[in-house]
Amino acid sequence: MAGHDKLHRAIEENRTLAETTVKSPIPFAANGEAAEQIEVENPATGKLVGTVPRMSPTDVREIASRARAAQPGWEAMGYEGRAQVLLRAQKWLLTNSRRVIDTIVSETGKTHEDAQIAEIGYAAPAFGFWARNAPRFLADERVSIRSPMLKGKRVVMRHRPLGVVGVIGPWNYPLTNSFGDCIPALAAGNAVIMKPSEITPLTSLLMGEMLAECGLPADVYQVATGLGDVGAELIDHVDFVMFTGSIETGKRVAERAARTLTPVSLELGGKDPMIVLRDADLEKAANAATWYSMQNGGQTCISVERVYVEEPIYDEFVKLVSEKVGKLRQGVPAGPGSVDVGAVTFGPQAEIVDSHVKDAVAKGARVAVGGRLKDGPGRFYEPTVLLDVDHTMRCMTEETFGPTLPIMKVPDADEAVRLANDSDYGLQASVWTRDVIRGEEIAARMEAGVASVNEHQINYFALEAPMGGWKQSGLGSRHGPDGIRKYTRRQVSVISRIGLRRELFMFPYSKCSSKLLGTALKLLHGRGKR
Ligand code: NDP
Repeated sequence: MAGHDKLHRAIEENRTLAETTVKSPIPFAANGEAAEQIEVENPATGKLVGTVPRMSPTDVREIASRARAAQPGWEAMGYEGRAQVLLRAQKWLLTNSRRVIDTIVSETGKTHEDAQIAEIGYAAPAFGFWARNAPRFLADERVSIRSPMLKGKRVVMRHRPLGVVGVIGPWNYPLTNSFGDCIPALAAGNAVIMKPSEITPLTSLLMGEMLAECGLPADVYQVATGLGDVGAELIDHVDFVMFTGSIETGKRVAERAARTLTPVSLELGGKDPMIVLRDADLEKAANAATWYSMQNGGQTCISVERVYVEEPIYDEFVKLVSEKVGKLRQGVPAGPGSVDVGAVTFGPQAEIVDSHVKDAVAKGARVAVGGRLKDGPGRFYEPTVLLDVDHTMRCMTEETFGPTLPIMKVPDADEAVRLANDSDYGLQASVWTRDVIRGEEIAARMEAGVASVNEHQINYFALEAPMGGWKQSGLGSRHGPDGIRKYTRRQVSVISRIGLRRELFMFPYSKCSSKLLGTALKLLHGRGKR
């Protein structure tokens, strides 16, 4: 608590935080020596905003055994008891939203609104949603059975928590895409170990403080601050891994989990296409293209990463988008309304963005707006519009994950769909048209976990609907009933109250009973009845 107060005060005072440390879960390494520290930097200013312990794989083993010991007590609190804690956390989050936003902004360099809309705006309802729906989604189910072998018996399926869930998260949404997955896992009765990105660990620690204040028993939620080796080790000690991050690391996670046959859910990258048809509302489509590509500095897995526009409206669309992108204000976030586009959170990502733009230009693309990594101290890439692009360019085929918008002219809708599907990714897609019936037909042809008409990305707030990637964009999904059932093991019970003391199919076998069984099987299944 004291650590976070100090952190927050320092953020408020906007000073260098070299001396500021957040409350550390394990201040000392397992060998008793002071743990190595990870320095957390504000990408918008280059200033240090905190330090957290760099845990070792040995530390992970220790916290995993504490989580395992704490889990049964949490499960025993039942849905009602757990919901009370989660609803208190919801209230806490809203009451302390400025403090949470400031923490997120300080470690990501995103704008106040990016944190408010897509982080608090997601997590606050998520607490209520999972607290309310966990008992319904995980209720025992009576299974109706046709087989005469089970005549007179009751078959019940129940969902039991897995035990300890490991959540490994990326740096672009420390609350939504990292901590957000802990909420259903906790609601289902699991203990959770959160491994945040080493770039943005402060928000996960603040959530630990919040949950403790809201009555979560000790060790039910723990934060494993560290590097990739901590994430890798975590996989060996948990019963389920919820991973959000790059495709490359996701594959490594799946390989490691295969060693212990630990189930995984992978939410990976995207190269999400937007198709603008000739009958689209151009003003609406241009506003959407601008916001969904530049929001959060383009560092959103389901952002608009590439646009295909039908030839007759291409020039007008480009004009509208270029004007809008050209007017965006970029800089150090200083509270509500101060800037539109924030910093590039992760250093190497800025190099990827720049390399995609340079590659495109070298192959004949034209920069309509932006196109440059600004000089320090903060790390900002100019909001950029690229024209005359094609699929030989990395900006059209690889995830850029930055404030860039490549726009490609296409002759017709069929070609747009072909190009949209010409990708190893399949996370999100959208089609823009006034003819929504045709729009739905086109959306259904797009190879993505979500394909919308005149909307993009907003489905993330639809907690009732599953969200996950096709192709290399992921495995499994979040949200919807499966978004919590995946954190449980299914258990089936056949319950027999009374009945025969010896079933017909039991020993001793006899000619008579075999004949009876044969007749019964023919009668029941021999007529091709459905
Ligand atoms: P990374 O894959 O680099 O890292 C994700 C997490 O995995 C980090 O916590 C990282 O730790 C950890 N990690 C690194 N190596 C290992 C390992 N061997 N075993 C286990 N864990 C490991 O992703 P980024 O942080 O760069 O995030 C950006 C990516 O996330 C983008 O591709 C984006 O599209 C994707 N993403 C997908 C979303 C979705 O819902 N589909 C949502 C948000 C982002 P450390 O940081 O310490 O290296």
